[in-house]
Amino acid sequence: MKLSEIKEALKLHARAIPVIRKYQPGYIASSFINNGLNAALPYSAIYFSARIIDVLSTDREPKSLLFWVILTVCTEAVLGVVSIFVRRWRTLHEYMLYEQDFPIYTHKALSMDFCVFDRRETADLLTQIDQNREFVACSFIRASMATDGLFRGAFRILGALILSVSLFTLPVENTSAGFLNSPLTAIVFVALLALSAAMGPVFIGKINSYYTGIAERGKMANRVWDFFLELSRDQSKQMDVRTYGQEKFVHHYERSTRFFNAEVLGPMGWLGGFAKGCGTVSTGLIYLFVCLKAWAGAFGIGAVTQYISAIAALSSGVNEFLEAVGDIRSNAAFLRKSFEFLDIPNVMYRGTIPTEKRMDREYEIEFRDVSFKYPSSDIWALRHVNVKFRVGKRLAVVGENGSGKTTFIKLLCRLYDPTEGQILLNGIDVRKYDYRDYLNVFSVVFQDFQLISQPLGANVAGSAEYDAARVTKCLSDAGFGERLATLPRGLDTMLYSDFGEEGINLSGGEAQKIAIARALYKNAPFIILDEPTAALDPIAEAEIYSRFNSIVDDKTAIFISHRLSSCRFCDGIVVFDRGSVCQQGTHEELVSKPGKYAELWSAQAQYYV
Ligand code: ADP
Repeated sequence: MKLSEIKEALKLHARAIPVIRKYQPGYIASSFINNGLNAALPYSAIYFSARIIDVLSTDREPKSLLFWVILTVCTEAVLGVVSIFVRRWRTLHEYMLYEQDFPIYTHKALSMDFCVFDRRETADLLTQIDQNREFVACSFIRASMATDGLFRGAFRILGALILSVSLFTLPVENTSAGFLNSPLTAIVFVALLALSAAMGPVFIGKINSYYTGIAERGKMANRVWDFFLELSRDQSKQMDVRTYGQEKFVHHYERSTRFFNAEVLGPMGWLGGFAKGCGTVSTGLIYLFVCLKAWAGAFGIGAVTQYISAIAALSSGVNEFLEAVGDIRSNAAFLRKSFEFLDIPNVMYRGTIPTEKRMDREYEIEFRDVSFKYPSSDIWALRHVNVKFRVGKRLAVVGENGSGKTTFIKLLCRLYDPTEGQILLNGIDVRKYDYRDYLNVFSVVFQDFQLISQPLGANVAGSAEYDAARVTKCLSDAGFGERLATLPRGLDTMLYSDFGEEGINLSGGEAQKIAIARALYKNAPFIILDEPTAALDPIAEAEIYSRFNSIVDDKTAIFISHRLSSCRFCDGIVVFDRGSVCQQGTHEELVSKPGKYAELWSAQAQYYV
């Protein structure tokens, strides 16, 4: 073990302690007190029984015998009862800490700017952390176990030292064994003892670092297993699995990715054997030294049992302490990854200006020469986009797939900030607004929207508490009213069956209507629908459009679509082509002149006839 490595590992663990305390307050305190008591119990028993043996082996005085027996029984009883409560307290904290390991990462993930979370490196880091956790309980859990081990070791060492100090200080009477009185003898003996005790954890440390090494390889195996496990369980994949015989891949990987074998476990077995051997050597040394001093008359029989037990406990305390240090060292690599993730900074500038809550809904949005590249890409997804629109208008954003329509919306909603240029709301750069406030200006139904397995009403409202009448109205405005009437549990109907059999499954169209209702319930001045009718059949699509004006009401609506038929009723149309706005105008203006819109229109017109 290099000192610098241990130093860095200790630093990382010192950083982990406040995190553990934040997520499971009381864990550290309960571990400290529990280990203190755990050490006090056997040591007090050792001390008192040594006194009783002393009395029995010398004057056999009944009074002093009674005194020590009563003291022993009372102390052990009190310590025993208290330790039961303390152990329960600590066990509870330990279980709760296991539960808290996920929130450490989920809180961070959920507080990240979307554009930061969306980076490939962030996703990679999270995958590695998950795989580490699956492979060995590591990072914060292991840090807490190591801290527990440090406390346990430290208390054992402390107790043993207190009980064995007199072993070294009491002089022998037998002059032929005078060398036992020399401080040098004590030093040599302690050094030998420390050396043999320390060697055990060195071997254990080697086993641990070997484990860290195979964890790297194991992660890949886990990745493969996870993927194929998912393939056999994910319902949405089963049709393809059955149709294309993809189970063959599962069987192939089951056979070819067997990970644990003798070669992988390598030298762990004999390293463990050496570790045990070191423990035996140190115990032997203790017996030798204590017996020599007792033989030379330094102390009586009671003290012999005290020293032998205390020093045996000392060596196991040192072992535990050093094992915990080894654990800390091997856990450092995992903890480093965790902090790498937790330290990822948010990059979006978040201003403080509140957005205007205008009754007249006079909002105006302007894209001023906006260009954008995705974080993990060198290609411009948007280039020199200039667009301006006001509330009350219907704006259609059209273009072929990949032309930049969704990216345009992601920028508008500040999931990303422009790489170049500015987006303005009522003449002010949107970065200057309070971020939450600004997000509340938009309701969006993304193309790949997600509903969650929670009751229908909660899905629409985005919260467990909601205005049922308003939720019902939004659902019926979005065209889900008839279906709602058939649901016996109404708004309490659970969506999907993740949490039980009673959940209902939804067709793509039904899900989309609920997603639209959710956007309506948010009641933001802007409503954005990304391919709003993509999952709907033509009848449902016509139904949505026919009620569109009542759905959108006085909001600004932005439709993104590659179906131009849906744009005719819009006041303005912005045509995207390869990341740029190539045309802007009304349907009549655009369709009558040569250009991308007329080209797309005539290509699709055959379907509208
Ligand atoms: P549209 O909505 O018009 O189909 P998008 O806005 O989704 O188009 O995509 C515009 C361009 O940006 C495409 O070239 C697409 O490949 C790219 N793109 C979209 N999302 C990402 C992403 N997360 N990372 C990198 N490139 C992306």
